[in-house]
Amino acid sequence: MNIFEDTSPKASRPRPLRVVVLGASGSIGTQTLDVCRRHSDKLKVVGLAVRSSTEFLVRAAREFGASVVAVTDAEHAKDAVLSELSEGCDLLCGESSLEEMVVRDDVDCVVSAVVGFAGINAGYAALKAGKALMYANKESLVVGGDLLMPLVAPGQLIPVDSEHSAIYQCLVGERRSDVHRIWLTCSGGPFFGMSRKELARVTAADALRHPTWQMGPKITIDSATLMNKGLEVLEAHHLFDVSVDEVNVLVQRQSMIHSMVEFSDGVVKAQLGPSDMRLPIQYALSYPERWETPVERVDYCGISDFTFGRADEEAFGCLSLAKRAGREGGTMPCAMNAANEVANLAFRRDRCGFLDVERIVRSVMDDTTAEPVESLEQLHEVDARSRAVAERFLAGI
Ligand code: NDP
Ligand code: MG
Repeated sequence: MNIFEDTSPKASRPRPLRVVVLGASGSIGTQTLDVCRRHSDKLKVVGLAVRSSTEFLVRAAREFGASVVAVTDAEHAKDAVLSELSEGCDLLCGESSLEEMVVRDDVDCVVSAVVGFAGINAGYAALKAGKALMYANKESLVVGGDLLMPLVAPGQLIPVDSEHSAIYQCLVGERRSDVHRIWLTCSGGPFFGMSRKELARVTAADALRHPTWQMGPKITIDSATLMNKGLEVLEAHHLFDVSVDEVNVLVQRQSMIHSMVEFSDGVVKAQLGPSDMRLPIQYALSYPERWETPVERVDYCGISDFTFGRADEEAFGCLSLAKRAGREGGTMPCAMNAANEVANLAFRRDRCGFLDVERIVRSVMDDTTAEPVESLEQLHEVDARSRAVAERFLAGI
């Protein structure tokens, strides 16, 4: 018996935990597979899903002995390499294949590392089926939090986003009513400190050189515009049942503090650690246990530079637009997210400038009337309509 025993979480998960990884070929997906490789005694990869990376899929399915794989892009569902899947490995194809995969009886846990709104139906299906959900796919929480969160049982959904994992860890053993506010940390991105005039000239290649994290292309651009932080404010709002204004963005350039929670008595708990996504991924999978670290430990005696600052919401307007969408609520975050997905891709393809991302998002939001979120079908309609409006604005640039 030690003095902490009574406050430590009691829930435990089956071991080995039978895991499916949606978005297995991406940045979070491959790091999840790395964690599974290191802890193969406790984690069994039973399913893998990609959009089109079929060569990767076949290689990973053979390595992990997966019993099911999915390819959502119908064009790639006929790729010749798929014939090399082991006998007995089921192949699912098309948009609904993610939902089919997550509800299978041989699945305990779903890691959703799909990028964008495209992940929402699978997240919803996983929660409905009572599966543990390790959620990296922040866009679908931002858009559909009103539908998803009422389905969540305690301990069922563990965030993978590093800030939200940090907040979750600070909250273990605490009472929700004792939370005063959340400090959501932010590296500031590659364009930290730049003026609007300078931002008007930056390119996608500049943005893709992120100072701290190696991530997929969409989130890398979102980090540069600070839309990522805006999405994270709304993600925290849904996950932790706090208002948008109870989430304070704090620039912490060194990315050493992954986020903090301030309680009613003024005490602040912060979560620190190496900047490596395998840590929050592993925490989600090991919860309520902790397993040996996959990365080098930090020598805090060697750190002399440790700074805090305010995010510049005037220069980086996407952050304030996301907060506005969160305050208006209902379907507004859906419209905002759809516009951002279109504008983010357009910027990556040099179809528009950096500041146009924010202009497109604002224009679509101004063109939208928020309605209460009622169903997945409604969100798909708002998403499609907002994408069409965003494309129209883009064509006029
Ligand atoms: P990547 O672009 O690296 O990977 C995306 C993955 O999703 C790929 O496996 C891709 O398959 C798959 N995918 C894309 N579209 C679809 C679709 N329509 N249906 C099914 N699968 C699809 O993204 P990241 O790993 O960077 O990000 C994934 C999610 O995690 C995002 O929501 C992001 O915001 C979040 N996140 C990421 C972090 C990071 O460090 N990367 C940190 C915190 C959160 P294919 O290869 O076949 O295209
Ligand atoms: Mg994050």
